[in-house]
Amino acid sequence: MSVEIENDRETATPPTLGDRLHPEPRHELLVFERSGAGKVGYSLPPLDVPDVSAIPAGLLRGEIEGETEITEVEVARHFTRLSRLNFSIDENTYPLGSCTMKHNPRTNEEMARLPGFAASHPLAPEEVSAGTLELAWRLEQVLKELTGLARVTLQPAAGAQGELAGILMVRAALEKEGNPRTTVLIPDSAHGTNPASAHFAGYKVRELKSNARGTLDLDVLEGAMTSDVAALMLTVPNTLGIFEDRILEIARIVHAKGGYLYCDGANFNSFVGIARPGAMGIDVMHMNLHKTFSTPHGGGGPGSGPVAVTTKLAPHLPRPTIERREDGSFGLDFDRPESIGRLRTFLGNYGMFVRALAYISSYGNRIGEVARGAVLNANYIRAGLAAHYHLKYDAPSMHEVVFSDKRQAEKGVHNGDIGKRLMDYGFHPPTISFPLIVHGALMIEPTETESRSGLDAFIAAMRAIAREVEEDPSIVLNAPHTTPVKRVDEVGAARNLILRWKPDGRETADGKRET
Ligand SMILES: *Cc1c(COP(=O)(O)O)cnc(C)c1O
Repeated sequence: MSVEIENDRETATPPTLGDRLHPEPRHELLVFERSGAGKVGYSLPPLDVPDVSAIPAGLLRGEIEGETEITEVEVARHFTRLSRLNFSIDENTYPLGSCTMKHNPRTNEEMARLPGFAASHPLAPEEVSAGTLELAWRLEQVLKELTGLARVTLQPAAGAQGELAGILMVRAALEKEGNPRTTVLIPDSAHGTNPASAHFAGYKVRELKSNARGTLDLDVLEGAMTSDVAALMLTVPNTLGIFEDRILEIARIVHAKGGYLYCDGANFNSFVGIARPGAMGIDVMHMNLHKTFSTPHGGGGPGSGPVAVTTKLAPHLPRPTIERREDGSFGLDFDRPESIGRLRTFLGNYGMFVRALAYISSYGNRIGEVARGAVLNANYIRAGLAAHYHLKYDAPSMHEVVFSDKRQAEKGVHNGDIGKRLMDYGFHPPTISFPLIVHGALMIEPTETESRSGLDAFIAAMRAIAREVEEDPSIVLNAPHTTPVKRVDEVGAARNLILRWKPDGRETADGKRET
């Protein structure tokens, strides 16, 4: 089989039996590098009808310089080999903190592929889109129930766009009262998207320092909460995985000065079905369907960041809203003069709505089990690793737990090294160096979909790494040892973008050639 690995330019050792049974390319060539004059992906018999092009000649492109010529089988094998170098939640534990990398149930996928949903055309008129609109309307009803808030928009394409929508609604409501105010308060434990969203919506950001417990300091809040503050953006539970247990007092302080309480609900996974944000005094909150409600992340699919609001903010929801009319039919309402406008084409990332509703429906009124499992699993990991890794904030965890590399750093090993070494043990690394208030952070979020044995295996790997750091730090410092690509220049690809491949070299963003 080793002849198949024609692209293996660096076969230093003879292949083992395992290598021969499972040939893994060490260096996959670029698809362009496989190009060869005259190779074709398909060949058709000569035309026996007149050659007419539907595209006017002036719009047709001529020869493309250096165009890849390659066979179909080479393309198929190239991408199949690349896919085997990937890591996914379908392979093993993916403890990437803050991202809620839970299993994506296949039932959701089946529902999203039903032709009535998958093939519905975004420009189809309302009269033939009853089912499409009803599903989105039903998802809104369920999210209203879970958040305890009055209305929901499904338009935002991600959590960050949901934040922007939420803050723009706050701004619209304050403008209606006569003064949009100037400032948004954000704790130092917040996700980086929060200050970006507030800034985008035209606000100055004032950072609030967390207390020794890792939560919001009420005295600090009281001092900062003036009548010039539009909103407090609070992540609940926060990025340390700690619940803001004084949320009711926080809401009272913010409301007393006429401000709004924005909840970054990306971590809703830890209390969905257990407690309602609306009952906590929260005025507006975004959720991430691709976190809490199990829709695929990143390469697996687009995001979706619905936003729930109180009655007071509802007139400002993005337009159009989806309404059920008195006769029971469903339609879009564009006649919303106080709306912040449209954020997204059509209804949003519709396939995610189908998946999320399928997921929620499969739990029904037992959805709180999701949160219970997530919290239990994070605390199991905290207990399993607390003797081996430093915990700056040693409070009970919600959905995730943030360790630091403080002990390992004494041996010269840092969080990034530990993450790389985990890859040798078959795990995706945790989130590292975030949140910023924990130096050398290792942020671990197992989610509820890991079994006890999966958690034990992860804990065992982390303990083994801690032992390696004590006994022979070089093993960890030189990790990963088992991946085809070892340490990469982590900023090189961003600083030196290669946008175009040419037969005689690669072209970088500033037009330079590299060979
Ligand atoms: C993931 C996350 C976001 C941003 O969500 P995106 O969908 O990635 O834009 C915001 N806040 C927190 C706390 C998050 O975990």
